[in-house]
Amino acid sequence: MKIPLKKRSDNSYHIEIFNEDFSHIAKDLKKLNLSDHYIVITDSNTHKLFAHDFQKAFKKEKLSIDVLGITAGEKSKKWKVVGKLLSELVRLNATRKSCIIALGGGVAGDLAGFLASVYMRGINYIQVPTSLLAMVDSSIGGKTGVDLPEGKNLAGSFWQPKKVYISLPVLETLPKRQLLCGLAEVVKYGCMWDRNFFKFLERSFKRMLKKQRRELEKDKRSSKKVVDISWLQREEYQKFLIEIIRRSIAIKRNVVKKDEKESGVRAMLNYGHTIGHAIEQLSHYRLNHGESISIGMNYEARLAHQLGYLSEKEVEKQEELFKLIGLPTEIPLKMDRVKMIEIMKRDKKSIQGKIGCAFIRKLGKPIPGFVDYVTAKKMMKVIR
Ligand code: NAD
Ligand code: ZN
Repeated sequence: MKIPLKKRSDNSYHIEIFNEDFSHIAKDLKKLNLSDHYIVITDSNTHKLFAHDFQKAFKKEKLSIDVLGITAGEKSKKWKVVGKLLSELVRLNATRKSCIIALGGGVAGDLAGFLASVYMRGINYIQVPTSLLAMVDSSIGGKTGVDLPEGKNLAGSFWQPKKVYISLPVLETLPKRQLLCGLAEVVKYGCMWDRNFFKFLERSFKRMLKKQRRELEKDKRSSKKVVDISWLQREEYQKFLIEIIRRSIAIKRNVVKKDEKESGVRAMLNYGHTIGHAIEQLSHYRLNHGESISIGMNYEARLAHQLGYLSEKEVEKQEELFKLIGLPTEIPLKMDRVKMIEIMKRDKKSIQGKIGCAFIRKLGKPIPGFVDYVTAKKMMKVIR
């Protein structure tokens, strides 16, 4: 006997970028009539900053809302927390009609998405990203996940949100370090997919540095080589910030549209991530995601050069942009290279002891087939 299970579902959803506060979200959800019970998952920082206003906006629309908090940081993306939150959902009488809302950065987003995908075999969820990284990357595409002691994101699911709400004013409180991390994923899109976007970023940040130098000259200190990224939070850079968010999302959208479950081109979104995840894990998450993949991309570019894919000039060009923005490019000296290789062998792209990386052959151009495999020995030569 055959069980006919041809898929006819439509997982499409909208991403909205807007300049208003949370009342816009509450009003929109009221109109969409998606659920009669919303449960917000948010971390300790975003809870302090936004939970009160968020709840107030929902209550004004007479929408039932509860808030569940997690400790801020990658360490919350683990099984123990998932178990605890699932029990909390039961305690709050969450049903299959309830809807989870991820309010926070990528950690809250990955965790909330995973919860939604397993609670009662799957309920709806919505993403309200508050970090730049979550806005341009983790909130889109439906990848959810938790870390295992053996490695990052080793458990997870593909579970698409019903909507993504990007409220720009929340970026005002984002610390500079987190802004930088988001930029690492922004630059990734240029490197792996869109040469024009890469050039646009290069031009824009060079111009920003020039302007900053001119301002500093007045103080007789003008040898600055790295842009002060906090300028992105200034009113005059609002348009530029929106432009990079919009273009990043458009690229991710086009990639996910072609390959929802990462059987081909979506692997390119992992550019820099094979080495990056190993760094992130071995630093015990003291280096965060953006910083780790920033280093990862630079080493994977050097590896691509060794393999004959990428010219030296392109490797340098890429590195220059990272340095200009102030993103790290070197693996910490003391990091155990042998352990790094062990972790990389367990990466989802690796097979039979060979390490899989998403490579580029030019800035903005992936290699045919997207992923190639290297031996541990070859990898060691580059990261040593
Ligand atoms: P994060 O969620 O830990 O947020 C970073 C920090 O910024 C946290 O301390 C948070 O409390 C704080 N924060 C967030 N928004 C703020 C705001 N508006 N104002 C002040 N503080 C704010 O980390 P992240 O960098 O957003 O995301 C990294 C995570 O995302 C990693 O776990 C990574 O694996 C995951 N990720 C997932 C995908 C995906 O496709 N699912 C893609 C990329 C990254
Ligand atoms: Zn990433």
